[in-house]
Amino acid sequence: MAEVLVYVDHVDGAVRKPTLELLTLARRIGEPVAVHLGAGVDTAAPVLAEHGAVKVLAADAPEFADYLVAPKVDALQAAYDAVSPVAVLVASSAEGKEIAARLAVRIGSGIITDAIDLEAGDEGPIATQSVFAAAFTTKSRVTKGAPVITVKPNAAAVEAAPAAGAVEQLAVTVADSSKGTKIVSRTPRESSGRPELTEAAIVVSGGRGVNGAENFPIIEGLADSLGAAVGASRAAVDAGWYPHTNQVGQTGKSVSPQLYIAAGISGAIQHRAGMQTSKTIVAINKDAEAPIFDLVDYGVVGDLFQVVPQLTEEVTSR
Ligand code: FAD
Repeated sequence: MAEVLVYVDHVDGAVRKPTLELLTLARRIGEPVAVHLGAGVDTAAPVLAEHGAVKVLAADAPEFADYLVAPKVDALQAAYDAVSPVAVLVASSAEGKEIAARLAVRIGSGIITDAIDLEAGDEGPIATQSVFAAAFTTKSRVTKGAPVITVKPNAAAVEAAPAAGAVEQLAVTVADSSKGTKIVSRTPRESSGRPELTEAAIVVSGGRGVNGAENFPIIEGLADSLGAAVGASRAAVDAGWYPHTNQVGQTGKSVSPQLYIAAGISGAIQHRAGMQTSKTIVAINKDAEAPIFDLVDYGVVGDLFQVVPQLTEEVTSR
């Protein structure tokens, strides 16, 4: 059966959820072969095997940690040359998209970014994308070379499918030209204890209707009762009520959770661009004419200061 390369996104061997989603999608088009670069393959390999990796190609070198993406592209290209896959799947993070783009140029293939679904096609894998601020979905296929496809987090529900997942060492030579940009320092962000916004299965976002930084704990309370990440509209971010790292939308982050709850957000097109592919959308807005109600699955017309605490209490009591 044809093999599909899956680039593993991990932190010291702790495999991030989008990679498990990639393995699930990869099985629709072939046999997943995981590519694990850097430390921690002993930790990662059993998890990758549990989710369908028939093989794990591993390489570790100081360059993967010391330099930006180019050494990883060298290694992914080595894996590509070794396997000749029918497709290469990478998670749609900023780093993932850069790696994918560089690889596609090197191997002379087409690239599809930010896919929200993937299926097998007679002439190669077909990717679904959400375009024009999520006003349309398109299905496309690469016509030259093995497609390199980046997939948005939460595009698929993770399914276990145990496979052999034997680790094989990958011989990699990092080119001098790949050492152009060195990482000089790393500052870990203070953790809120909440899931990463772009990976969270549930996101609760607040907008201008929250009416002040001092009221955002209401949004955080609902998020915490659901184990969700917190998002914010640009209006709330521009007002200084919540950090820009939490902004959802065209100039913020793009999220695609199972459940997106928007409180006090009108639903401007630039906000929709970042959340419209969410599976279920709930809005709480006191204006029944707010445009957000055009795209919701469930809408509550009401004052968020009454509705959100009641919702939190109800969720917490269960
Ligand atoms: P508003 O549009 O002011 O809506 C507030 C809503 O809260 C209203 O519908 C109101 O009825 C409701 N409300 C008020 N009080 C309550 C209450 N007590 N209870 C319930 N509901 C209440 N925006 C983004 O979000 N993300 C982006 O990435 C982004 N990028 C942009 C890029 C460009 C180039 C431009 C031009 C704009 C961008 N914007 C972005 C801004 C966008 O156009 C909107 O201005 C913004 O999304 C509005 O935020 P909001 O919905 O919180 O505020």
